[in-house]
Amino acid sequence: MNRQKVLITGGASGIGLALARRFIARGDQVAICDADADAVARMQAQMPDVIAVQADVTDEAQMAAFLNGIESRWGGIDVVCANAGTGGPAGRIETLDYNDWQSCIAVNLNGAFLTCRWAARLMRAQGAGLIVLTSSTAGLFGYPLRAPYCAAKWAIVGLTKTLASELGPAGVRVNAICPGAVEGDRMDRVVAMEAKASGKPEDEVRAQYVRGVSLRTWVSGDDLADTVLFLASPAASKISGQIMAIDGHTETLTP
Ligand code: NAD
Repeated sequence: MNRQKVLITGGASGIGLALARRFIARGDQVAICDADADAVARMQAQMPDVIAVQADVTDEAQMAAFLNGIESRWGGIDVVCANAGTGGPAGRIETLDYNDWQSCIAVNLNGAFLTCRWAARLMRAQGAGLIVLTSSTAGLFGYPLRAPYCAAKWAIVGLTKTLASELGPAGVRVNAICPGAVEGDRMDRVVAMEAKASGKPEDEVRAQYVRGVSLRTWVSGDDLADTVLFLASPAASKISGQIMAIDGHTETLTP
């Protein structure tokens, strides 16, 4: 398989970093953006082959500079992972602050819009390409105490289905991944936040995530990378419009 040109938003830590590592390991070219300047600098030092740029996915001008820069450097793109996301606030809807609602929707949904709009234009002209959006199991179930995050991740499912239909005739595939709870810093923060909002001990919140999953497991960044690399392979050339949960089969987010 030819070297692929892969762009990942929110790629300097967590799932995005796991994806970048795996694409680099198989010889692909990778560009990432991330809002966290320190994480970008760390990644650049550890992985000098990656083009790593500080850019906020909600900022149209920053994203235009990043995306147009990649377009002029590479000329085309094979895979775009609209991955950047934030957990947003935890609490019952009547306690939520409007600014927190807006910033959660902005990062998780508006950022995906700006990324996909650029990718769609370029890939339609190429007549080929793959977009992978990161939703969540929160995009498949109701998720008490996490209304903005849940709403944004359901919206990603709608965006995925729509873009798969719009871009399919041009030869472009669009799929979403729905990770379950991923081991790492991000879920440690989420568990602490949900424990505070619900008054439950952190161990109980953590155990709840496992109880609702048939395989009684969390997932790893590498589990997700396995799926994205499969989607980016010729074996997946007929797969589009799919909402793929990598989660050990979530039965409920409210066990
Ligand atoms: P993470 O916090 O470890 O990494 C997210 C990265 O995105 C960070 O490097 C952060 O700096 C960056 N980012 C945040 N806001 C940004 C912005 N405005 N512009 C650019 N970059 C920004 O989280 P993660 O677990 O790697 O999450 C990646 C994606 O997976 C997100 O969309 C998240 O909602 C989704 N997800 C995560 C889990 C989980 O359990 N961790 C589960 C389901 C879905």
